[in-house]
This record gives sequence, C-alpha cells and structure tokens, in this order.
Amino acid sequence: MFISCSAEKRILAIPNQGSAVVAGYWTPELGRVDGPIRMQWEQGKVSSLGPLIASMECLKASSQDLPWHSYILMPGFIDAHVHLALDSIDFFQCLRNWQDPAQIEMSIQDALRHYLELGIVAIRDGGDLPGFAWAAKQSLESQEWIGPKVISVREAVNRQGMYGRFLGRGFQNVQDWQQLKEEFFRQGADQLKVVVTGIISFSEYGQVGPVQWSVGELRNLVNSAHERGILVMAHASGEEGISRAIAAGVDSIEHGYYMTSEHLNHLKEREMAWVPTLAPIGNLLKYPSDRYSPHEMHTLNRILNSHLKRIKEAYDMGVRLGIGTDAGAYAVHHGDSFLDEMSWMGDAEIPKNAIYCLATQENARICRLPEYGKLEVGTPLSCLQMQIPKRLGI
Ligand SMILES: [Zn+2]
Repeated sequence: MFISCSAEKRILAIPNQGSAVVAGYWTPELGRVDGPIRMQWEQGKVSSLGPLIASMECLKASSQDLPWHSYILMPGFIDAHVHLALDSIDFFQCLRNWQDPAQIEMSIQDALRHYLELGIVAIRDGGDLPGFAWAAKQSLESQEWIGPKVISVREAVNRQGMYGRFLGRGFQNVQDWQQLKEEFFRQGADQLKVVVTGIISFSEYGQVGPVQWSVGELRNLVNSAHERGILVMAHASGEEGISRAIAAGVDSIEHGYYMTSEHLNHLKEREMAWVPTLAPIGNLLKYPSDRYSPHEMHTLNRILNSHLKRIKEAYDMGVRLGIGTDAGAYAVHHGDSFLDEMSWMGDAEIPKNAIYCLATQENARICRLPEYGKLEVGTPLSCLQMQIPKRLGI
C-alpha cells in the first residue's frame, strides 16, 4: 500500500502492517499535537496513535519503527472541484486531443500521481463528456494506476445548446431528461453535477452566461439525484442562478461568483456548502500572461476582491466552505493549484488552521468520504499525508 509523503513530494510504498515514530500529528479537532508519537497500523489502518514512552519494553518494540521523526501526520487534502480531462493550458486544443484517448489517459495518469505526491488523497471531478475522469476512477480502483480517490460525476447535466457542451451531452428540457435519466445514471455517477448558469465574463463586471433552468426544472433534476441517494453539485454564478440553485435544494454551489449576503443566509440556514474556486480568477492575476487585456485584468481583479470579501463573510457566518480549484481550467494546474487555492483562502483572511480543516474535514463531507479528512484509530493510511511541521505554518 501507499502513503503520501507530501513533505518530499513522494509516494511511499509501505507494508500493510507496521509502526513508525513521527514528530507529531495534526487533526481538525485537536490541531497540532507535538510528539514524539508512535503510530501502529494493521491491515492498512491506524491501530494506535500515542506518545512514545521511552521504557525498555517500548525501546525494544520500537527497533522496527519506521524513522519518520521529521514528519507530522495529518489527514490528506481533498480537492473538491477538478476536471481531470482538461489540461489547464489550452482548452480548445485539449478538446481536440480528446480524439486521442491514449494521450489523454497518459496525462491524466501523470496528474493523478502528482496529486498524491502533494498530499491530495481525494479529488471530486466535475465531469467531461467522454467520461475520462470516470474511466480514471476505474483504473485507480482496480489498482492499475496510483493516485487519489476519485469522486466523479462522470457527465454533467446542462441545457442543450447552452454552456457546458464539453461537460455533458445536454438535455433539451425536463421531458428529455426524464426519458434519459435511467440510462444517464446507469453509466455511473457519484454525484450529480448540474450546470445552472454559464460562466462569468472577464470583460464586464457582473456579467454571467444565462441561467439554464427554472427552479421547477432544477428541483426535478435535484430530486432525481436525491432519490438515488447522491448529492448535487451546482455550477452557478450570478444572483439569479445562485438563487435558483438554492431554491431547488442543491447540496453545494460551485464557483458562486457574485454571491450576495442574502444568499449566504440561505446557505447557512440550509447547511449548503459553497466551493468558491478562487484559483481560476486569482491565478490569472498571480501568473500574468499576455492572454488578457489590461481592461480584463482590471475586471478580474474586481471580481477577485469582491469574491474574497464574500468568502470571509461566509466564514465568519459559519457557512460551510469547501476548497476546490477547478483544476484543468486555464492556469489552474492539477495538484499545484490546490496550494494556490489554500493560499487564496488565506488572502480571504481565513486562518491557516481553519483552511486545513476545510481542506480535510469539510471537503470530506462535501465529497461524502467518511473515512477521509480525519486521523484516528481506524483511518486508512492511504487517507493520510506526511508533512514537515514548519512548512504547515501552524
Ligand atoms: Zn467544474
């Protein structure tokens, strides 16, 4: 089995049973606990975790401990929003490359390995029409590939002829959906992704692509998922689109640019999560290129700043926040962008310790991964990462 040594951007092969001495650990409940700490595991799961007592007996027993003295253990990170089938370099070229599945599979395989090297032990994929992410999930589950756990929507639901043609086939209307939904779910879906609106304009502040569904239609889509016991993630930005998604009872709002204070009240009341994906905007400013005009950069800056303020407001209100990158989008690189996203959450003035709680515990809830986002007896080592205390900054 494997554990992510994110401290050295490596994946370590370890036996199914063993013990190690570490410098300490971090959990969402306790924060940082300094050691030395001895951890034992059996059948790949933590069986004990506690202070190393330097009695003779323990010294004897510890001769076989793996020397992980410089690391602290913590739950692995989870990226709550990625698109494995996109390459973050050139969207249109990438869609053409989809004609060559072997090439795409190779780059997905590399990306997956990289996620795990960086301590990202699970990702939630927001879909691609050919189902590359879903196929990757199968390759991981059959242990052909090494990488994080993948929660995948497989294909998203958008309105035919509107935004999202690379995410899903598109449905003309709810009748169309009713007729095809059995087949849609039969092809596989861990969650249902609904494309509620188009994307935001980079040149006109406040502009968002049109809303695709009425509240009634959205309720119909949401019920189809909830009847099957799966969660609904809604791609929604702009006041109207976000309002409709909330009214329809989705489980998480993805992106949510132009979220209002009123929306936040509803999210709080209904315990809905918000995954604000800062990196797709922020990274364009952080890693400037000649792709966008000064006017567009100015607009992006405005969007970013209002988004950061709203995220802080959400945090202060106790709204459930997730950390998701939209990796695969332009300049949002698989794996590395998760560090960008956490750093952007820091720019929203969310304390570091809280960011780690969101990146682990809350994201596990959003992805519905009960074994993830924690470190306790029974936690699989594949859900953990080994970090260097200093680098965490807590
Ligand atoms: Zn997405």
